[in-house]
Amino acid sequence: MAFEGLTERLQKAMRNLRGKGKVSESDLRKTMREIRLALLEADVNFSVVRKFVKTVQERAKGADVLEGLNPAQQIVKIVDEELTKTMGEEATPLNKSEKIPTVIMMAGLQGAGKTTTAGKLSLKLKNEKDARPLLIAADIYRPAAIDQLEQVGKEIDVPVFQKGTDVDPIEIVKQGMQVAKENHNDYVLIDTAGRLQIDEKLMDELKNIKELTHPDEILLVVDAMTGQNAVNTAEGFNDALDITGVVLTKLDGDTRGGAALSIREVTQKPIKFIGQGEKMDALDVFHPDRMASRILG
Ligand code: GDP
Repeated sequence: MAFEGLTERLQKAMRNLRGKGKVSESDLRKTMREIRLALLEADVNFSVVRKFVKTVQERAKGADVLEGLNPAQQIVKIVDEELTKTMGEEATPLNKSEKIPTVIMMAGLQGAGKTTTAGKLSLKLKNEKDARPLLIAADIYRPAAIDQLEQVGKEIDVPVFQKGTDVDPIEIVKQGMQVAKENHNDYVLIDTAGRLQIDEKLMDELKNIKELTHPDEILLVVDAMTGQNAVNTAEGFNDALDITGVVLTKLDGDTRGGAALSIREVTQKPIKFIGQGEKMDALDVFHPDRMASRILG
């Protein structure tokens, strides 16, 4: 289960304060040390941990919490609020263009869940906004990627524009955009190529697609199971592409929590959606407060 270790350790750290009418500074220091270790063990970025611990400690000391009524409960509340803040405070809606189509460019490393998420998001737009999306298959390097997108398109009844693997991705996107215009599609989702790691050629290609389509949304798909690597990937893509948001996938797995808790702070870009399964309906809007509650258990 996701966050299992983190939840257990945070609860344990704060259990020590329970029942205490008054919490001494040394009690607080001990609790904060345990929280710090719990976060580091969950693979949360070091500077995010440092800032988090400092803020919680200062708030706990500052607001007469230690002397006040039910200090343990108040500290739990502060931790909850600061976890929420670390993950972005509030849900961030998908950008929408004033005139159709709204262009959503999907980016991410191979295996992160980009193609699956492109399908899930199309279905969500269809179901919730009555949208008529078009999917563009621009990953020509992995032949199976196009078949996969076509299959996804069939499953959710969304058209897929593809030109096989022999046409340049920029040309495919150009033609796909034209088709969307002719058919009055209100959303276009571009499934771009992924690699095993960030490389310059890939980034150049993505930059060219960005320049051509002026996307309203560049969503980076990252695998929550990869912890700090997901955070580094997000930093790399953000530096090159100035992404507009992140989709964190595989939160149905036993991820430790590092990616969810670090990405917003490190990149300053919002997590917009979370993937919680392989099925097409397993995509949810990311709510930082709900995630904080889930982490605290
Ligand atoms: P891409 O290479 O980035 O396009 O990745 P894919 O979309 O092909 O996904 C890679 C694998 O991850 C596939 O087996 C997907 O079914 C799976 N996957 C994607 N998102 C999720 C998710 O949220 N949860 C789980 N459990 N699996 C996912």
